[in-house]
Amino acid sequence: MSPPAIASYEDLLAAARDPARPATLALAGVIAGAPARGDPPSACVRGLAAGELRALLDAFFPALAARADAAGAPPAAPSGEFTEFDDLVRLLDEHAAAPSPESRWVARAVATACAGADHLWQDMGLPSRAVLGALMRESFPALSARNHADMKWKKFLFLQLCEREDVRACTAPSCGVCSDRGSCFGPESGTPSWFARAADRSAGGANARREG
Ligand code: SF4
Repeated sequence: MSPPAIASYEDLLAAARDPARPATLALAGVIAGAPARGDPPSACVRGLAAGELRALLDAFFPALAARADAAGAPPAAPSGEFTEFDDLVRLLDEHAAAPSPESRWVARAVATACAGADHLWQDMGLPSRAVLGALMRESFPALSARNHADMKWKKFLFLQLCEREDVRACTAPSCGVCSDRGSCFGPESGTPSWFARAADRSAGGANARREG
């Protein structure tokens, strides 16, 4: 079971139960971003079996689920290897606000987007970094609180993996004296990915203005 030929971001939000929720925006952005990542429809969120993807669509995008491939689609492999995916999922699952199907879906969507080359909020198709912050606070509160220095989210998540493995990836003794500080901290500015911008255009720019 997969979204019909991967629905557009606009179609997903039009079909959403609650289009204003950060989790809805995140799942829509990651599903709609599958073609840009080269991922097939049935692997639009890595790590989800066909039944789980069906449940996700039913819960978040019910109008779309009714149109989706009822016959089901065999799980396909996502494009490219992403060796840290399982470790990221484990980290996020362990810090979920409450174990639930939704927390599993969001964790896998975040980990899927971590394979991208841009800021995490852009790779998730979110309208702004502020929405990613809201998602992390809502879905992974303890992990979010640990990022009290407001490190860039991908840097922060990968640093957590290093620390769990007791790997010291940094050459400086501390962030305060590190010459590479700009790559780990900073505003994560940029423009939203194309599908978020398109949706924002049709909403009259309300998303970006709301989130600042
Ligand atoms: S600022 Fe430097 S020391 Fe701190 S996490 Fe980044 S690379 Fe490591």
